[in-house]
Amino acid sequence: MTPAQIETFFATLQAANPQPVTELEYTSVFELLAAVLLSAQATDVGVNKATRRLFPVAHTPQQILDLGLEGLESYIKTIGLYRSKAKHLMETCRILVERHGGQVPRTREALEALPGVGRKTANVVLNVAFGEPTMAVDTHIFRVGNRTGLAPGKTPLAVEQQLLRRIPARYLVDAHHWLILHGRYVCQARKPLCHQCAVSACCDFRPKTTG
Ligand code: SF4
Repeated sequence: MTPAQIETFFATLQAANPQPVTELEYTSVFELLAAVLLSAQATDVGVNKATRRLFPVAHTPQQILDLGLEGLESYIKTIGLYRSKAKHLMETCRILVERHGGQVPRTREALEALPGVGRKTANVVLNVAFGEPTMAVDTHIFRVGNRTGLAPGKTPLAVEQQLLRRIPARYLVDAHHWLILHGRYVCQARKPLCHQCAVSACCDFRPKTTG
């Protein structure tokens, strides 16, 4: 994609959805962190289903700790890999209470030091909660970046770096949401819906699907 095509790509996505938001449900930075931690290899819908029961009962690190491991597991059993996610979340909560006054830290270094929090989760929290222009490359963004020619790369990190380099600064904070939603609903994994795609004219993918 040329710089002019990238500009059109994001201007089009922005016009269709000026204020994109994550589909994960949360009401605080901690709830966002917990939801993202639980969402690895799971759908947002599945995570929301569990957290709608969990968060009314426990929505701070101390309250999660007070549930105990088995108590926490009972709320998130429907989410894949729930045992290891429960362990990570408990340990993360312990560190938040002991080292961060129960608050979610704002730096990448401190976030990535939390169990179960990798680069992608840290990028989501920095972007969604703190408004930083970071790019969390999930399976959708990895696919869209490569398929469209926007940010070709063999690894998520390579795609992330390309996206940060190529996306105009004014689109960077929201680009993560636009790309995820575009990948989830239009540029789908098995068969992209090119015939319904608003950015088809600036996408390198060939041959386009016709329905
Ligand atoms: S034209 Fe097709 S491949 Fe390109 S972004 Fe749209 S859906 Fe994806």
